[in-house]
Amino acid sequence: MHRAAVMPAPHAPIEVREFTSPELADGEALLETTYSEVCGTDVHLYHGRLSGVPYPIIPGHVSVGRVAKLRGRHTSIDGEPIREGDAVAFLDVHGTCHRCYACLVAKQTTRCPHRRVYGVTYGARDGLLGGWSEVIWMRQGVHMLPLPPGLTAETYIGGGCGLVTATHAVERADVRLGQSVAVLGVGPVGLSAVALSSLSGAEQVIAVGSPAPRLAFATRMGATHTLGLDIPAEERAATVRSLTGGHGVDVVIEASGSPEAVTQGLDLVRDGGRVVIAGHYTDNGPVALNAHTHVNRKHVEIHGCWGADYSHFYRALRLAARFGDRVPWASMVSGRYPLEQCGAALAAVQEQTTIKAIIAPNPV
Ligand SMILES: [Zn+2]
Ligand SMILES: [Zn+2]
Repeated sequence: MHRAAVMPAPHAPIEVREFTSPELADGEALLETTYSEVCGTDVHLYHGRLSGVPYPIIPGHVSVGRVAKLRGRHTSIDGEPIREGDAVAFLDVHGTCHRCYACLVAKQTTRCPHRRVYGVTYGARDGLLGGWSEVIWMRQGVHMLPLPPGLTAETYIGGGCGLVTATHAVERADVRLGQSVAVLGVGPVGLSAVALSSLSGAEQVIAVGSPAPRLAFATRMGATHTLGLDIPAEERAATVRSLTGGHGVDVVIEASGSPEAVTQGLDLVRDGGRVVIAGHYTDNGPVALNAHTHVNRKHVEIHGCWGADYSHFYRALRLAARFGDRVPWASMVSGRYPLEQCGAALAAVQEQTTIKAIIAPNPV
Protein backbone atom coordinates (compact mmCIF):
# COMPACT_ATOMS: atom_id res chain seq x y z
CA MET A 1 0.00 0.00 0.00
CA HIS A 2 1.10 3.56 -0.66
CA ARG A 3 -0.10 6.79 0.90
CA ALA A 4 -1.14 9.78 -1.15
CA ALA A 5 -2.76 13.13 -0.42
CA VAL A 6 -6.12 13.47 -2.12
CA MET A 7 -8.12 16.57 -3.03
CA PRO A 8 -11.62 15.05 -2.80
CA ALA A 9 -13.47 17.97 -4.41
CA PRO A 10 -13.08 21.73 -4.73
CA HIS A 11 -12.92 23.39 -1.29
CA ALA A 12 -12.86 20.02 0.53
CA PRO A 13 -9.99 19.45 2.99
CA ILE A 14 -7.03 17.46 1.64
CA GLU A 15 -6.89 13.97 3.10
CA VAL A 16 -4.32 11.19 3.08
CA ARG A 17 -5.60 7.91 1.62
CA GLU A 18 -4.04 4.53 0.94
CA PHE A 19 -3.73 3.03 -2.52
CA THR A 20 -2.64 -0.37 -3.77
CA SER A 21 0.55 -0.58 -5.80
CA PRO A 22 -0.11 -0.50 -9.56
CA GLU A 23 0.46 -3.62 -11.67
CA LEU A 24 3.24 -2.43 -13.95
CA ALA A 25 2.80 -3.23 -17.63
CA ASP A 26 5.79 -3.52 -19.95
CA GLY A 27 7.36 -0.09 -20.42
CA GLU A 28 6.04 1.23 -17.11
CA ALA A 29 7.81 2.17 -13.90
CA LEU A 30 7.23 3.23 -10.35
CA LEU A 31 8.97 6.25 -8.83
CA GLU A 32 9.53 6.84 -5.16
CA THR A 33 8.68 10.51 -4.87
CA THR A 34 11.51 12.69 -3.60
CA TYR A 35 9.67 16.00 -4.01
CA SER A 36 6.57 17.30 -5.60
CA GLU A 37 5.43 20.89 -5.49
CA VAL A 38 2.46 23.11 -4.85
CA CYS A 39 1.93 25.08 -8.04
CA GLY A 40 -0.46 27.99 -8.49
CA THR A 41 -2.49 25.55 -10.56
CA ASP A 42 -3.12 23.49 -7.43
CA VAL A 43 -4.70 26.56 -5.83
CA HIS A 44 -6.92 26.87 -8.92
CA LEU A 45 -7.77 23.17 -8.63
CA TYR A 46 -8.72 23.65 -4.98
CA HIS A 47 -11.11 26.42 -5.98
CA GLY A 48 -12.57 24.41 -8.87
CA ARG A 49 -11.40 26.95 -11.45
CA LEU A 50 -10.26 24.41 -14.07
CA SER A 51 -12.81 22.59 -16.18
CA GLY A 52 -12.82 18.83 -16.75
CA VAL A 53 -10.94 17.86 -13.57
CA PRO A 54 -11.96 14.35 -12.43
CA TYR A 55 -12.09 14.87 -8.63
CA PRO A 56 -11.01 13.25 -6.40
CA ILE A 57 -7.46 13.84 -7.61
CA ILE A 58 -3.94 13.34 -6.30
CA PRO A 59 -2.41 16.77 -7.06
CA GLY A 60 1.24 17.37 -7.87
CA HIS A 61 2.07 17.66 -11.57
CA VAL A 62 5.79 18.45 -11.42
CA SER A 63 7.81 16.06 -9.32
CA VAL A 64 11.18 14.41 -9.01
CA GLY A 65 11.82 10.91 -7.73
CA ARG A 66 13.93 7.82 -7.65
CA VAL A 67 13.15 4.81 -9.83
CA ALA A 68 11.86 2.10 -7.48
CA LYS A 69 10.71 -0.46 -10.03
CA LEU A 70 10.95 -0.88 -13.80
CA ARG A 71 9.27 -3.23 -16.26
CA GLY A 72 10.95 -3.63 -19.60
CA ARG A 73 13.76 -1.59 -21.04
CA HIS A 74 13.80 2.14 -20.36
CA THR A 75 16.05 4.70 -21.94
CA SER A 76 16.09 8.45 -21.81
CA ILE A 77 15.41 10.45 -24.97
CA ASP A 78 19.22 10.63 -25.33
CA GLY A 79 19.43 6.83 -25.33
CA GLU A 80 20.88 6.57 -21.83
CA PRO A 81 19.67 3.49 -19.97
CA ILE A 82 17.48 4.21 -16.94
CA ARG A 83 17.98 1.93 -13.99
CA GLU A 84 16.40 1.34 -10.62
CA GLY A 85 17.76 3.84 -8.12
CA ASP A 86 18.23 6.63 -10.68
CA ALA A 87 17.02 10.12 -9.77
CA VAL A 88 14.67 11.20 -12.56
CA ALA A 89 12.13 13.80 -13.55
CA PHE A 90 9.40 13.52 -16.17
CA LEU A 91 7.07 15.75 -18.16
CA ASP A 92 3.68 15.83 -16.44
CA VAL A 93 1.90 15.89 -19.80
CA HIS A 94 1.14 12.39 -21.02
CA GLY A 95 -0.66 10.95 -24.03
CA THR A 96 -0.09 13.73 -26.60
CA CYS A 97 -1.39 11.78 -29.59
CA HIS A 98 0.70 12.96 -32.57
CA ARG A 99 -2.29 11.96 -34.71
CA CYS A 100 -4.76 14.85 -34.41
CA TYR A 101 -5.17 18.20 -36.16
CA ALA A 102 -3.43 20.10 -33.33
CA CYS A 103 -0.45 17.73 -33.36
CA LEU A 104 0.00 17.15 -37.10
CA VAL A 105 -1.44 20.12 -38.96
CA ALA A 106 -1.30 23.10 -36.59
CA LYS A 107 1.80 21.61 -34.89
CA GLN A 108 0.63 22.96 -31.55
CA THR A 109 1.01 19.85 -29.44
CA THR A 110 0.24 21.71 -26.21
CA ARG A 111 -3.31 22.08 -27.59
CA CYS A 112 -3.71 18.34 -28.33
CA PRO A 113 -7.13 17.37 -26.93
CA HIS A 114 -5.88 13.89 -26.00
CA ARG A 115 -3.15 15.01 -23.63
CA ARG A 116 -3.57 14.12 -19.97
CA VAL A 117 -1.70 15.77 -17.12
CA TYR A 118 -0.42 14.06 -13.99
CA GLY A 119 -2.02 15.61 -10.93
CA VAL A 120 -4.52 17.66 -12.96
CA THR A 121 -6.57 15.67 -15.49
CA TYR A 122 -5.91 12.21 -14.09
CA GLY A 123 -8.14 11.35 -11.14
CA ALA A 124 -7.32 9.33 -8.04
CA ARG A 125 -9.51 6.57 -9.55
CA ASP A 126 -6.99 6.30 -12.40
CA GLY A 127 -4.26 5.39 -9.89
CA LEU A 128 -1.17 6.96 -8.39
CA LEU A 129 -0.82 9.63 -11.07
CA GLY A 130 0.01 12.68 -8.99
CA GLY A 131 3.09 13.73 -7.05
CA TRP A 132 1.54 14.27 -3.61
CA SER A 133 2.09 10.58 -3.09
CA GLU A 134 4.75 8.24 -1.79
CA VAL A 135 5.05 6.74 -5.28
CA ILE A 136 4.16 7.85 -8.79
CA TRP A 137 3.12 5.46 -11.53
CA MET A 138 4.97 6.09 -14.78
CA ARG A 139 2.50 5.00 -17.45
CA GLN A 140 3.58 3.80 -20.87
CA GLY A 141 4.80 6.69 -22.98
CA VAL A 142 6.13 8.76 -20.09
CA HIS A 143 9.74 9.59 -20.93
CA MET A 144 11.76 9.92 -17.75
CA LEU A 145 14.96 11.95 -17.78
CA PRO A 146 17.77 11.27 -15.32
CA LEU A 147 18.88 14.40 -13.47
CA PRO A 148 22.15 15.50 -15.09
CA PRO A 149 25.27 15.26 -12.89
CA GLY A 150 25.38 18.13 -10.42
CA LEU A 151 21.65 18.84 -10.53
CA THR A 152 20.06 18.31 -7.14
CA ALA A 153 16.42 17.39 -6.60
CA GLU A 154 16.10 20.64 -4.58
CA THR A 155 17.24 22.82 -7.48
CA TYR A 156 15.02 21.03 -9.98
CA ILE A 157 11.90 21.21 -7.83
CA GLY A 158 12.73 24.79 -6.78
CA GLY A 159 12.44 25.70 -10.46
CA GLY A 160 9.65 23.17 -10.96
CA CYS A 161 6.60 23.93 -13.04
CA GLY A 162 7.47 27.63 -13.10
CA LEU A 163 10.83 26.97 -14.73
CA VAL A 164 9.36 24.71 -17.42
CA THR A 165 6.56 27.20 -18.12
CA ALA A 166 9.00 30.12 -18.18
CA THR A 167 11.25 28.25 -20.63
CA HIS A 168 8.30 28.20 -23.02
CA ALA A 169 7.31 31.82 -22.30
CA VAL A 170 10.84 33.16 -22.84
CA GLU A 171 11.08 31.15 -26.06
CA ARG A 172 7.81 32.77 -27.22
CA ALA A 173 9.24 36.15 -26.18
CA ASP A 174 12.30 35.67 -28.41
CA VAL A 175 14.46 37.86 -26.16
CA ARG A 176 17.48 39.19 -28.05
CA LEU A 177 20.89 40.22 -26.74
CA GLY A 178 20.90 43.64 -25.15
CA GLN A 179 17.12 44.03 -25.12
CA SER A 180 14.92 45.20 -22.28
CA VAL A 181 12.30 42.94 -20.73
CA ALA A 182 9.53 43.62 -18.24
CA VAL A 183 8.21 40.61 -16.36
CA LEU A 184 4.80 41.20 -14.80
CA GLY A 185 4.20 38.89 -11.85
CA VAL A 186 6.77 37.54 -9.41
CA GLY A 187 5.43 34.08 -8.62
CA PRO A 188 7.49 31.04 -9.64
CA VAL A 189 6.79 31.53 -13.37
CA GLY A 190 7.67 35.24 -13.26
CA LEU A 191 10.80 34.65 -11.19
CA SER A 192 12.08 32.01 -13.60
CA ALA A 193 11.16 34.26 -16.54
CA VAL A 194 13.35 36.95 -14.93
CA ALA A 195 16.25 34.48 -14.64
CA LEU A 196 15.88 33.12 -18.17
CA SER A 197 15.53 36.61 -19.71
CA SER A 198 18.72 37.57 -17.96
CA LEU A 199 20.46 34.39 -19.15
CA SER A 200 19.21 35.19 -22.68
CA GLY A 201 21.26 38.37 -22.63
CA ALA A 202 18.67 41.00 -21.81
CA GLU A 203 20.35 44.23 -20.76
CA GLN A 204 17.50 45.24 -18.50
CA VAL A 205 15.04 42.96 -16.74
CA ILE A 206 12.36 44.89 -14.90
CA ALA A 207 10.26 42.84 -12.49
CA VAL A 208 6.84 44.20 -11.56
CA GLY A 209 4.73 42.62 -8.86
CA SER A 210 4.01 41.89 -5.23
CA PRO A 211 4.27 40.95 -2.38
CA ALA A 212 7.54 42.58 -1.32
CA PRO A 213 9.51 39.41 -0.42
CA ARG A 214 8.81 37.85 -3.84
CA LEU A 215 9.68 41.10 -5.58
CA ALA A 216 12.93 41.31 -3.62
CA PHE A 217 13.73 37.74 -4.68
CA ALA A 218 13.46 38.85 -8.32
CA THR A 219 16.70 40.78 -7.84
CA ARG A 220 18.42 37.55 -6.80
CA MET A 221 17.05 35.94 -9.98
CA GLY A 222 18.62 38.64 -12.15
CA ALA A 223 16.18 41.56 -12.22
CA THR A 224 17.96 44.87 -12.78
CA HIS A 225 14.99 46.89 -11.48
CA THR A 226 11.89 46.08 -9.44
CA LEU A 227 8.61 47.97 -9.29
CA GLY A 228 6.03 47.16 -6.60
CA LEU A 229 2.31 47.24 -7.20
CA ASP A 230 2.07 49.88 -4.44
CA ILE A 231 3.44 52.32 -7.05
CA PRO A 232 0.54 53.62 -9.21
CA ALA A 233 0.42 52.08 -12.71
CA GLU A 234 1.02 55.45 -14.41
CA GLU A 235 4.12 56.01 -12.33
CA ARG A 236 5.40 52.50 -13.07
CA ALA A 237 4.93 53.14 -16.79
CA ALA A 238 6.79 56.47 -16.52
CA THR A 239 9.69 54.74 -14.73
CA VAL A 240 9.88 52.04 -17.42
CA ARG A 241 9.90 54.69 -20.15
CA SER A 242 12.67 56.60 -18.41
CA LEU A 243 14.72 53.38 -18.08
CA THR A 244 14.37 52.69 -21.81
CA GLY A 245 15.17 56.01 -23.41
CA GLY A 246 11.49 56.93 -23.52
CA HIS A 247 10.59 53.97 -25.78
CA GLY A 248 9.21 51.27 -23.50
CA VAL A 249 10.57 47.74 -23.21
CA ASP A 250 11.25 45.46 -26.18
CA VAL A 251 9.47 42.55 -24.54
CA VAL A 252 6.81 42.08 -21.86
CA ILE A 253 6.22 38.69 -20.27
CA GLU A 254 2.94 38.59 -18.36
CA ALA A 255 3.03 35.96 -15.62
CA SER A 256 0.58 37.34 -13.10
CA GLY A 257 -2.86 36.14 -14.17
CA SER A 258 -4.26 39.60 -13.56
CA PRO A 259 -6.36 41.07 -16.40
CA GLU A 260 -4.97 44.56 -15.67
CA ALA A 261 -1.45 43.24 -16.25
CA VAL A 262 -2.28 42.66 -19.91
CA THR A 263 -3.29 46.29 -20.40
CA GLN A 264 -0.30 47.40 -18.37
CA GLY A 265 1.96 45.21 -20.52
CA LEU A 266 0.65 46.90 -23.65
CA ASP A 267 1.36 50.27 -22.00
CA LEU A 268 4.94 49.25 -21.13
CA VAL A 269 5.99 47.67 -24.43
CA ARG A 270 7.66 49.79 -27.10
CA ASP A 271 6.21 50.28 -30.58
CA GLY A 272 6.81 47.08 -32.52
CA GLY A 273 7.58 45.14 -29.34
CA ARG A 274 6.24 41.83 -28.15
CA VAL A 275 3.91 40.83 -25.31
CA VAL A 276 3.67 37.21 -24.17
CA ILE A 277 0.66 36.26 -22.05
CA ALA A 278 1.53 33.26 -19.91
CA GLY A 279 -0.24 33.95 -16.61
CA HIS A 280 -3.86 33.39 -17.61
CA TYR A 281 -4.05 29.65 -17.10
CA THR A 282 -7.57 30.11 -15.77
CA ASP A 283 -10.28 32.51 -16.89
CA ASN A 284 -9.84 35.69 -14.89
CA GLY A 285 -12.21 37.70 -17.03
CA PRO A 286 -11.88 40.09 -19.96
CA VAL A 287 -9.46 43.00 -20.25
CA ALA A 288 -10.12 46.46 -21.59
CA LEU A 289 -7.70 47.54 -24.28
CA ASN A 290 -7.76 50.13 -26.99
CA ALA A 291 -7.22 48.45 -30.35
CA HIS A 292 -5.91 51.68 -31.87
CA THR A 293 -3.45 52.88 -29.24
CA HIS A 294 -2.48 49.54 -27.68
CA VAL A 295 -2.21 47.29 -30.72
CA ASN A 296 -2.73 48.63 -34.22
CA ARG A 297 -0.84 51.91 -34.09
CA LYS A 298 1.69 50.39 -31.74
CA HIS A 299 2.32 47.56 -34.21
CA VAL A 300 2.85 45.05 -31.39
CA GLU A 301 2.92 41.28 -31.40
CA ILE A 302 0.81 39.57 -28.75
CA HIS A 303 1.65 35.92 -28.15
CA GLY A 304 -0.27 33.43 -26.04
CA CYS A 305 1.67 30.68 -24.31
CA TRP A 306 -0.18 27.54 -23.33
CA GLY A 307 1.47 24.76 -21.31
CA ALA A 308 4.80 23.26 -22.21
CA ASP A 309 6.01 20.40 -24.35
CA TYR A 310 8.85 17.94 -23.98
CA SER A 311 11.39 20.33 -25.49
CA HIS A 312 10.72 22.87 -22.73
CA PHE A 313 10.96 20.23 -20.01
CA TYR A 314 14.17 18.83 -21.52
CA ARG A 315 15.82 22.23 -21.81
CA ALA A 316 14.56 23.39 -18.39
CA LEU A 317 16.29 20.39 -16.81
CA ARG A 318 19.54 21.20 -18.59
CA LEU A 319 19.29 24.88 -17.68
CA ALA A 320 18.75 23.99 -14.03
CA ALA A 321 21.85 21.77 -14.16
CA ARG A 322 23.99 24.34 -15.96
CA PHE A 323 22.95 27.45 -14.03
CA GLY A 324 21.70 26.08 -10.71
CA ASP A 325 24.76 27.45 -8.91
CA ARG A 326 24.11 30.95 -10.27
CA VAL A 327 20.33 31.14 -10.22
CA PRO A 328 18.94 30.43 -6.74
CA TRP A 329 16.11 28.12 -7.76
CA ALA A 330 16.80 25.91 -4.73
CA SER A 331 16.44 28.94 -2.43
CA MET A 332 12.96 29.65 -3.80
CA VAL A 333 11.79 26.73 -1.68
CA SER A 334 10.64 28.34 1.53
CA GLY A 335 8.40 25.60 2.88
CA ARG A 336 8.75 21.83 2.91
CA TYR A 337 5.74 19.71 3.91
CA PRO A 338 5.04 16.01 4.55
CA LEU A 339 1.93 14.41 3.01
CA GLU A 340 -0.18 15.10 6.10
CA GLN A 341 0.41 18.84 5.72
CA CYS A 342 -0.46 19.29 2.05
CA GLY A 343 -3.44 21.44 3.10
CA ALA A 344 -1.14 23.81 4.97
CA ALA A 345 1.24 23.89 1.99
CA LEU A 346 -1.65 24.82 -0.29
CA ALA A 347 -2.76 27.58 2.10
CA ALA A 348 0.78 29.02 2.23
CA VAL A 349 0.91 29.24 -1.58
CA GLN A 350 -2.56 30.74 -1.77
CA GLU A 351 -1.76 33.37 0.87
CA GLN A 352 1.66 33.98 -0.75
CA THR A 353 3.39 33.63 2.60
CA THR A 354 5.88 31.40 0.78
CA ILE A 355 7.52 31.67 -2.63
CA LYS A 356 7.54 27.96 -3.20
CA ALA A 357 6.11 25.12 -1.10
CA ILE A 358 7.26 21.61 -1.83
CA ILE A 359 5.89 18.26 -0.73
CA ALA A 360 8.28 15.63 0.59
CA PRO A 361 6.20 12.43 0.83
CA ASN A 362 9.12 10.26 1.92
CA PRO A 363 11.83 10.99 4.45
CA VAL A 364 14.76 12.52 2.52
ZN1 LIG B 1 -2.87 15.24 -30.69
ZN1 LIG C 1 2.13 23.96 -12.53
